[in-house]
Amino acid sequence: MLEIIAIYYLVKKNTSLAANKGRSKVLFALMTVGLWIFLEITFSVLGVFAGVNNTYALMGIALLGGVSGGLISFLIAKFCPTKSNASFRSSGASGTQLPVATKTEREETYCRYCGAGVVLPANFCDTCGKRLDHNT
Ligand SMILES: [Zn+2]
Repeated sequence: MLEIIAIYYLVKKNTSLAANKGRSKVLFALMTVGLWIFLEITFSVLGVFAGVNNTYALMGIALLGGVSGGLISFLIAKFCPTKSNASFRSSGASGTQLPVATKTEREETYCRYCGAGVVLPANFCDTCGKRLDHNT
């Protein structure tokens, strides 16, 4: 059956995407097959409830559901964020990684001896060399 082949390739695609992101292949394989079957059944049940009694039409609706499920699983695999502790050896586009969100808002104060701006944390004024007692 053609559908099995489609699922097979989709699982292969999704698991390799998952592996590139350091995520569980088994999990994504299960998700792909699960979503496909789940939506296939959901769609055909909905088709029956909607009054479709043509077998071929129902099969078409079921297949549409399966393909939608496969598409959703592919999008999840494609856009799920990379696990932070994953190694990036297999990802070619790692140059565009998000900058690490360093929470260093430059805190600035003024030297009370010479008036020059001083970036904290600093114990001495860069301009005049006097000790800063900014903690008090
Ligand atoms: Zn100073």
